[in-house]
Amino acid sequence: LSRRLAEFGTTIFAEMSALALSTGAINLGQGFPDTDGPEEVREAAVRALRDGLGNQYPPGPGVPELRTAVAAHQQRRYGLSCDPDGEVLVTAGATEAIAASLLALVEPGDEVIALEPYYDSYAACIAMAGGRRVPVTLRPHEGSFRLDLDELRDAVTDRTRLLLINTPHNPTGTVLTRAELAAIAELAVERDLLVVTDEVYEHLVFDEAEHVPLATFPGMRERTVTIGSAGKTFSFTGWKVGWVTGAPDLVAAVRSAKQFLTYVASGPFQYAVAEALCLPDSYFADLRADMLAKRDLLAGGLERAGFKVFRPAGTYFITTDIRPLGESDGFTFCRALPERCGVVAIPNAVFYDHREQGAPFVRFAFCKRTGVLEEATSRLKTLA
Ligand code: PMP
Ligand code: GLN
Repeated sequence: LSRRLAEFGTTIFAEMSALALSTGAINLGQGFPDTDGPEEVREAAVRALRDGLGNQYPPGPGVPELRTAVAAHQQRRYGLSCDPDGEVLVTAGATEAIAASLLALVEPGDEVIALEPYYDSYAACIAMAGGRRVPVTLRPHEGSFRLDLDELRDAVTDRTRLLLINTPHNPTGTVLTRAELAAIAELAVERDLLVVTDEVYEHLVFDEAEHVPLATFPGMRERTVTIGSAGKTFSFTGWKVGWVTGAPDLVAAVRSAKQFLTYVASGPFQYAVAEALCLPDSYFADLRADMLAKRDLLAGGLERAGFKVFRPAGTYFITTDIRPLGESDGFTFCRALPERCGVVAIPNAVFYDHREQGAPFVRFAFCKRTGVLEEATSRLKTLA
């Protein structure tokens, strides 16, 4: 393994899903739904396969139907105009969008600021691009993890090239507020930074929280690469359909990297996702309502089991603090949990450079059937 990648080892998701399989435990670790997305979207994929749509290499930027649907979705939900030709790029999931964006936009030695805890592929992709990651830690404050804007401002140096933002945020469930996003936007403009913003959980926001794309703020359109994913929005994580939107020069740069990573992917699925993006608003409302009920079910169960729960404003993850259970190390706790009570979770420390900051936090996914969550909560209760 190259020195660039040596520190990354095996992703925690593979490790913990393997543990779930080998122990038969309920997997609340890796974030994937245990119910597939809408039947009509699955049927659309079958139709595409049968009709020979996308069975051979689709066009490099993605099939026109999907690019048009992504642009229409941005316009309909956020009033963001986006040219399907030149301002949209289809990728092999958000994972490739992240990799291609960083490889395209970061020079060796450039500093990339990422919110910590960060989704694990960020660190690996910054390293592959030869960049230096500069984490800015979200800290627990009154029941959620918050960004300290002064800390963010102080982290910017003359070497900073790019801010890597994620909202709604995995693993904390934090949704950045309009005021926080406005401050990030002002900073980016003032210091002339590029922004890559991972908004794959854009539709999973609860209560009063609102998802506002960073690209909608003044001065941001020309400096922002926005990332979306059908895996999250339509519950087809195996299809690996994601996309990038942004100004033509940025999207062209990302396309340059992407063409040598996968060139193209997911042919027939692209047609199906194009149809999915045109589903009525009720689909997105129902998804949110369903996930909200699941959030509350699992959050209640975790509280009864003795965890301190950070009830998330977005995503399908709950971060907990295990210290009230008399535990202090999430790694040790998560490795023992399948044996102790038949449940798998993720230690948040893997998402930190400052591992000690993340040590007491553990993440549970709630994108699972109600019966599965009920069984998991009753198992977890034996910890109390
Ligand atoms: N970004 C974040 C924040 C994620 O949580 C995930 C999925 N876990 C991804 C990107 C990757 O998305 P995809 O499956 O579309 O590659
Ligand atoms: N994004 C998912 C999560 O955070 C997992 C994706 C993966 O397995 N790489 O759980």
